[in-house]
Amino acid sequence: TRRIVLASRPQGAPAPGNFRLEEAELPAPEPGQVLVANRWMSVDPYMRGRMNDAKSYVPPFRVDHPLDGGAVGEVIASAAPEVPVGTTVLHGSGWREHALLEASAVTPVDPDAAPASAYLGVLGMPGLTAYAGLLGAARFTPGDTVFVSGAAGAVGSLVGQIARLSGAARVIGSAGSPEKVARLLELGFDAAFDYHDGPVVEQLRAAAPEGIDVYFDNVGGEHLEAAISVLNTRGRVCLCGAIAQYNATEPPAAPRNLALAIGKMLTLQGFLVGGWQDMAPEFRERMTGWLAAGEIRWDQTVREGLENAPQAFIDLLEGANTGKMVVAL
Ligand code: NDP
Repeated sequence: TRRIVLASRPQGAPAPGNFRLEEAELPAPEPGQVLVANRWMSVDPYMRGRMNDAKSYVPPFRVDHPLDGGAVGEVIASAAPEVPVGTTVLHGSGWREHALLEASAVTPVDPDAAPASAYLGVLGMPGLTAYAGLLGAARFTPGDTVFVSGAAGAVGSLVGQIARLSGAARVIGSAGSPEKVARLLELGFDAAFDYHDGPVVEQLRAAAPEGIDVYFDNVGGEHLEAAISVLNTRGRVCLCGAIAQYNATEPPAAPRNLALAIGKMLTLQGFLVGGWQDMAPEFRERMTGWLAAGEIRWDQTVREGLENAPQAFIDLLEGANTGKMVVAL
């Protein structure tokens, strides 16, 4: 069986040479374990941080060791009666074709209720991030005008749609191409712009003449600075991600206007999805309902084959995806 190991730590943007495809023995499960044939694996922006040798909320990946991350697969051998052969499971041992796991480390999912890859996106970690980040961390209330960056991505596209369904006055998104902007309007965003087309603050002001009440930040830097300028009094920010600086080798220059947060009485709320698991049952129930009613649509960008997973990850950071980037194994 094959797996991807971290060959070296990226300096700046990751490159194919930072990854290596390795052959490994196919192990047999010991009592209490299952062997899973992975069908889908996730590549996520947070993995970039784990490639640095820096202390963070998740330990760094180790050089010459396999990478890991979200994956969905099928149990092909089982020594755990509670998880029989044929079960589709979600787990954390991606970046490999087969994973040997304790039965307690896998979560059975229903492949008839939704396509298996949905459990890595709209029904999984990115979905909960959007739901809890907006409704929990940013304390969204009906009538709010919401701005989300990275809006055509896995999290951002759901933030905008959940805001619309929850009674937002206006939903604005920013993304990196004209095609993505057009897609956001199809998804029901009231306004969208390409951040390459001019200063974010000018485009945001034009899209939100009455200001914004919530900013869902996936990007940081210039986007966060623009949002601080355009936020209304008692506005709230969900600090979810700062992808503009994940490959940076220098500290970010923006935001330079943080002191505005004082007079506007803004709330800047750092967010980690792991800290909001208590909202997961409510999220699953409501998202399942929205999907069944056709009220939320989700995109994914699929790459084929484990050998193409490093490039999928590299391209994710460059914006090659619309919706969730996943690799089919
Ligand atoms: P996305 O599907 O949004 O993919 C990443 C996107 O980031 C790309 O498609 C690209 O789109 C955009 N991007 C890349 N570089 C830049 C840049 N310099 N400026 C603006 N946009 C850029 O990924 P996810 O939905 O999985 O994650 C979105 C954000 O949420 C990330 O910051 C991630 O780290 C964060 N996150 C945080 C979690 C938490 O618990 N705090 C949990 C999950 C995600 P474009 O073409 O528009 O540039």
